[in-house]
Amino acid sequence: MRLSRFYLPVLKETPADAQIASHRLMLRAGMIRQEGAGIYAWLPLGFRVLKKIEQIVREEQDRAHAVEMLMPTIQSADLWRESGRYDAYGKEMLRITDRADREMLYGPTNEEMITEIFRAGVRSYKDLPKMLYHIQWKFRDEIRPRFGIMRGREFLMKDCYSFDIDEESARNSYNKMFVAYLRTFARMGLKSIPMRADTGPIGGDLSHEFIVLADTGESAVFCDKGLVDMDVPAKTTDFDGDLQPVIDQFTSLYAATDEMHDEKEFETKVASENRISARGIEVGHIFFFGEKYSAPMKAVVAGPDGGDINVQMGSYGVGVSRLLGAIIEAYHDEAGCKWPMPVAPFHVGIVNLRVGDEACDAACAKLYADLESAGVDVLYDDIAARPGEKFARMDLIGLPYQITIGPRGLGAGEAEVKDRHTGEKSNVALDGVAGEIA
Ligand code: ATP
Ligand code: MG
Ligand code: MG
Ligand code: MG
Repeated sequence: MRLSRFYLPVLKETPADAQIASHRLMLRAGMIRQEGAGIYAWLPLGFRVLKKIEQIVREEQDRAHAVEMLMPTIQSADLWRESGRYDAYGKEMLRITDRADREMLYGPTNEEMITEIFRAGVRSYKDLPKMLYHIQWKFRDEIRPRFGIMRGREFLMKDCYSFDIDEESARNSYNKMFVAYLRTFARMGLKSIPMRADTGPIGGDLSHEFIVLADTGESAVFCDKGLVDMDVPAKTTDFDGDLQPVIDQFTSLYAATDEMHDEKEFETKVASENRISARGIEVGHIFFFGEKYSAPMKAVVAGPDGGDINVQMGSYGVGVSRLLGAIIEAYHDEAGCKWPMPVAPFHVGIVNLRVGDEACDAACAKLYADLESAGVDVLYDDIAARPGEKFARMDLIGLPYQITIGPRGLGAGEAEVKDRHTGEKSNVALDGVAGEIA
């Protein structure tokens, strides 16, 4: 991508109402634009990161044998009356009326709809287990939307739903998502800690929130330090196998959110030097809730002896858009973002220090072409501007590598490569740069 073609409206001033780093940087780096309270447009740079995060989430859902689909954002109120949640959900639900006066709503979550879809298509226990997911926009009319996309009103969520014949099998589905979540967040450079959690309006008994520790997080959390360094299950994990030992390992140490915290147990189980009492960002949440929806909504299958059995269900959410904020909170400095490679909007930025100089233009164009053909995502700054302005912009958008080409280096056949994470700079022979990065 040539910067001259891209749309990157960076801000010089720090927006006054943005209280945390990720919100400030997303606005300053031209990633998002506020269109209403808790409602944001995703500008090209932010949208590229969102897509990369979404893709990692997708790959790990697929690996855990969940199947992707897409449900609509608009749902009918009648569906929610079947489960009894239409009234229970309260003001967080955005209620809409269509031209025929039918009551509709903008989905805050999809348990009802997926249960309706499931009951229409599955008849026998032999069709189980099933795990279905989608990645779709949600709307929740939050009392206090804040911190930019961290707590938006419209936000992108991955929500998966599992259907099993009995509790034991449902436990397997829960475990698959548990492992998938650990892997998903780790691939983005985030240490997530599964914590015993309250089930809230979704209901049920078994639930974990996946928390990324951050001073700016909205949840108060308590856990054993040992969880921070625990190794995440490998890519080769057999999702058909028994995952319970992994779950046991992660749940053997104390970890609970505010609502579930038991100070006595914390003090008994965890040595004082290992106690972490901190703040965190909820990036994912998994629930097992059994028959909460299948019973009232009659999602039944024929069992082995022919009788109807209510299916056992779970639901599993990831805050896809919130993850952008969580990643920036973990990776930034005064100058801007420092994207981990797997989610970086571009892998490399090329800075042409003297646009219009024949030799500089030619060297940049060649490097740009070489990197692109090697499959590297490149942003080529081909705009004539002061070096200081160019470097500040590159640091702000935080691509992992910056390659600078100017008349002086070019004379020596060299480019300067800067690692945004370490700040280290080195001079590299021009014909070796593509090989070094790709
Ligand atoms: P919170 O406690 O932050 O309000 P929640 O517990 O209400 O979140 P869930 O119903 O568990 O949210 O939804 C699944 C995931 O969706 C959450 O773990 C979170 O990452 C994300 N999420 C929820 N609400 C928002 C929001 N307003 N903006 C962005 N992401 C959100
Ligand atoms: Mg909420
Ligand atoms: Mg919550
Ligand atoms: Mg939650």
